[in-house]
Amino acid sequence: MIEDDIASVLMCHDDIALTAHVSPDGDSIGSMLGLYSFLKSISKSVDAYSSDPPPEVFSFLPGYGAIKRSCDTISKKYQVLVVLDCGSIDRSGECVCLREQSDMIINIDHHLTNSRFADISLIDSGASSTGELVYRIIKSSGFSITEDVACCLYTAILTDTGNFRYSNTTSLTHRIAGELIDTGIDFGHIYEMIYNNYKYQDIVLMSRAMSSISLYCGGKVAFMYLLQSDLDGLSFEDINTSDYINYARDIGGVEAAAFAKGTAAAEFRVSFRSKNDVDVRAICEKFGGGGHAKAAGCTMKGSLEEVRNLIINELENALKGEKI
Ligand code: AMP
Ligand code: MN
Ligand code: MN
Repeated sequence: MIEDDIASVLMCHDDIALTAHVSPDGDSIGSMLGLYSFLKSISKSVDAYSSDPPPEVFSFLPGYGAIKRSCDTISKKYQVLVVLDCGSIDRSGECVCLREQSDMIINIDHHLTNSRFADISLIDSGASSTGELVYRIIKSSGFSITEDVACCLYTAILTDTGNFRYSNTTSLTHRIAGELIDTGIDFGHIYEMIYNNYKYQDIVLMSRAMSSISLYCGGKVAFMYLLQSDLDGLSFEDINTSDYINYARDIGGVEAAAFAKGTAAAEFRVSFRSKNDVDVRAICEKFGGGGHAKAAGCTMKGSLEEVRNLIINELENALKGEKI
C-alpha cells in the first residue's frame, strides 16, 4: 500500500520539510502540524512551512508557533518535501522554492484536481480530509498516535467535513475521529477554539458580506462579495471569512453559492460551494483553480460586475446540465 511506502520513506530519511496550500485552512494546517508532531516525536529533523500566515484561529494547535514562512528557508537542503492538501505544487505559493531544495517530493491530498507532480503520491478523493490520510500513514508506520498529533488531525477532519456534516463524511471518518478522541483530546475545547472564538471584526465584516448576497437563476444561485474597501483597512489574512459562504449556500432552494473576495484591483479570489449535483470544481478548473465537486475555488480577473456575470453564467449553464 502507498501508505506503507510513504511511512517507510519517512522512517528512512531525516531532514524533512512540510508545506501545504496558500490561504491555509483547518485541514492544511491540521494535517501538516499532525505530521509535524508525529515526525518530531520520532526524533526526525522537520520544518513546517506556510506561504501565507496561518490563521490565528488555529494558534491553539501544537506546533503552530514553529511554522516557518517560505522566506525563512534560506538555502537549507531537505531529503524529503511533503506537500499536503495541495493538488499542484503551485498551490504551495512561495513555498514552491522548497522543491529545488529537496531530493524527493511526497504529495498527500484528497482533491479531485491533482496534477500528479510528486515522486510518491497518496491521493484519495474519497477521503474526508488530508488529516484522514495522514492518520492512515501514521498507522502504517506502526507508531501510536499521541495526543498532540490527534489534536491536529481531529481539527483537520472537523473543519474539512463541516463538523461531520458534509457528504465526504463516512463511517470511517467517525471511527478515525473516535480513535483520535480516545487519545485524550478535549474535542469540545477544539470545537470551541475554532467556532466559538470569532473576533468582533470577523462578525462585523460577515454582516457586510451577508448584506451583499443576491439570488439568481430563480433562487438557485447565491452570490456574495467583499471588496478591499469593505475591510476597514484590514486584509483578508486578518479576518476569518472561511464560514461566510456557508450562509449563502444554506439558503433554502440554493443549489450553488459563490463568494468573491476582492484581493487586488480587478482580481477576486472566489470560493464556490454546491449543495447537491452542481460540480463547482469543473467551473473552477476553467479558471485555473480546482478543488472538490462541492467546494472549490479559483482566482478571477475583472471588475466586480464582470466577475459576477461570469460566475452567474457558469452556474446557470451548470444548472441547465443538471437534473435538479
Ligand atoms: P476555499 O473556498 O478557499 O475554502 O476552497 C475550497 C476548496 O477548493 C478547498 O479544498 C481548496 O483547497 C480548493 N481550492 C481553492 N482555490 C483553489 C485553487 N485556486 N486551485 C485549486 N484548488 C483550490
Ligand atoms: Mn484545504
Ligand atoms: Mn482538505
